[in-house]
Amino acid sequence: MFSYRHAFHAGNHADVLKHLVLVQLLRYFAQKDSPYWYIDTHAGAGAYALDGDWAGKTAEFESGIARLWTRDDLPAIVADYVEEIVAFNQDEFLRYYPGSPFLAARAMRDRDRLRLFELHPTEIEVLRSNFRGQGKDEARRTMIYAADGFEGLKALLPPPTRRGIVLIDPSYEDKRDYARVVECLGEALKRFATGCYAVWYPQVSRRESQQLAGRLARVPARSWLHVTLTVRKPSSDGLGLHGSGMFIVNPPWVLEAALKDAMPWLTRVLAQDAAAAFSLDGRQA
Ligand code: SAM
Repeated sequence: MFSYRHAFHAGNHADVLKHLVLVQLLRYFAQKDSPYWYIDTHAGAGAYALDGDWAGKTAEFESGIARLWTRDDLPAIVADYVEEIVAFNQDEFLRYYPGSPFLAARAMRDRDRLRLFELHPTEIEVLRSNFRGQGKDEARRTMIYAADGFEGLKALLPPPTRRGIVLIDPSYEDKRDYARVVECLGEALKRFATGCYAVWYPQVSRRESQQLAGRLARVPARSWLHVTLTVRKPSSDGLGLHGSGMFIVNPPWVLEAALKDAMPWLTRVLAQDAAAAFSLDGRQA
């Protein structure tokens, strides 16, 4: 269970899709003055060095964020996302990549709150040390729990502000994660029906992955949006990630149109072969 390290995958095509959506959710929530909570059930290390031993070894970011870095024809929401990655780097070179916790930390105001869960004994230490350098204000609004995010989420819902974004982003190395995600979302909706939830999942050659979106669509949510980005055909040995999906419950109403605009471009630019494609569907309240 503890072999997964997100650093190997930081900035890949799946991170691009996940973080592109996350940046839009955060920006949408910051449009209103009233405070909100951001809860990350699977936080990872928070930030990654792309020239480090791990990310540098697999170089997955080269077919992800690196393909967007120098483009001057970015659709609006892709530009918003790239702007966040640029802000995380000190110069024009792509050296660092923010994970979801730091994307959220940058977007949040003093009155907002950040709640992060991470179970890996090493990742949690890196996450804590990454946040330690952030100063008092950040420390005041952030809580990091060395705990199971599926379980821990329940106790935080509903957030006192009654406004919140929850990112559910397991690694799915343990195939029970597929069932746990569905169960976790169902439980969370009972406690906080108006929350905005974003579930990331991998497109891999396994039944649980192919069935997940269908199962998520059956949770009792008023509205949802489901976007997938496939970058290549599945490999013949059935290994590896050929794409990913984001299932967003109670999405901002502007998100669907923004994705409709961006996904054809993103699919073209991140394509690894002719099987590259996207899908977008949803249910409106
Ligand atoms: N959300 C991060 C981001 O976007 O930057 C990436 C998270 S990574 C895909 C999944 C993380 O969940 C890993 O760091 C793993 O150690 C952690 N993890 C696995 N099972 C967990 C659990 N039950 N509760 C909390 N964290 C868990």
